[in-house]
Formats: sequence, structure tokens, C-alpha cells
Amino acid sequence: MLQDQEAHAAEMERTFIAIKPDGVQRGLISEIVSRFERKGYKLVAIKLIVPSKEFAQKHYHDLKERPFFNGLCDFLSSGPVLAMVWEGEGVIKYGRKLIGATDPQKSEPGTIRGDLAVVVGRNIIHGSDGPETAKDEIALWFEPKELVSYTSNAEKWIYGVN
Ligand code: UDP
Ligand code: MG
Repeated sequence: MLQDQEAHAAEMERTFIAIKPDGVQRGLISEIVSRFERKGYKLVAIKLIVPSKEFAQKHYHDLKERPFFNGLCDFLSSGPVLAMVWEGEGVIKYGRKLIGATDPQKSEPGTIRGDLAVVVGRNIIHGSDGPETAKDEIALWFEPKELVSYTSNAEKWIYGVN
């Protein structure tokens, strides 16, 4: 069954995904990128950046009352972060499924954290938790001109769109 082009376009979403300094230092970039790529999501922005502590505090502003906030912001700004935007139908919610639970002790095997991380303070990857957060995080990490809109030849095979 071919999906209607308009219905497909309406379901398209973008989410912010970042490989944290532990994932970069452990050489897990290609492993993590490939999981999103093989699933059928489209990469629309990517850059390696060492965020300042102030920037990390902005990124995690929702957590500023939590006891781990300071350590978390020190950690995020301690080295290179691979910042990305991925696009696809349902990518915000399903991206979080690919990532797994916040605490790797509770992440299912087969998820990124379940397979590749052990403790919550070094859980290697960030993913936006909803449409509003995705919008805000993409705007915080990327200039509009860094987001690349393009048609992938694979899309008609991934979505069955005519
Ligand atoms: N975190 C932590 N200790 C905790 C809870 C969270 O160090 O008890 C860190 C962890 O790296 C997590 C990040 O804070 O990924 C953000 O927390 P959030 O609850 O937003 O989890 P996420 O959305 O990353 O799954
Ligand atoms: Mg979160």
C-alpha cells in the first residue's frame, strides 16, 4: 500500500541527538550513527563541538534543581560532543526507544544504552524527549542554515510513498 505524500509529510519530525563526551572518547560514533541510519532515519545536521559549561547549563536547564546538575554540566562540557539532527516519521519518540532508559541498568538489551553503557552518569547519548524540547534543542545547537533539507532516494522504499 503506497502512503499518501501529504500524510507522509505531515508525520515528518526532527529530533536532536547528541553523542556525549564518553561516547565520542570510547569510539562509539559510527556504531551509534549507524543505528539511526540503518533504521531509516535521515541525517540533516551533524557537527563535533566542545560545549562551554554555560552552554551545557542551557541545554540541561530543566534539570537545574537536581543534585547531579553541576556534575552533569561539567561532564557535557569536558570534551567533544557529536551534535546531530535526525529526521523521520515518529523519530522523536522512536529515537528515545533506540536510545533506551536513562539508567543503563534499566535499559533493554538491544538499545544503545542497554548494549553500550553501564551507569547513568555515563550513558553516552542524549535524545530530545518531546516535540517542544526537540524544537528548542535544535535551535540551541544549530543555526537554521546548518540544517540540510534534501530528498533521499531511499525514502520511497522506507515509507512506501508514491
Ligand atoms: N543523570 C544523572 N543522574 C541521574 C539522572 C540523570 O547523571 O540520576 C544524567 C544522565 O546523563 C541523563 C541526563 O542526566 O542522561 C539527563 O537526565 P534526563 O532525566 O533528561 O535523562 P535522558 O533524557 O537523558 O534519558
Ligand atoms: Mg532528558
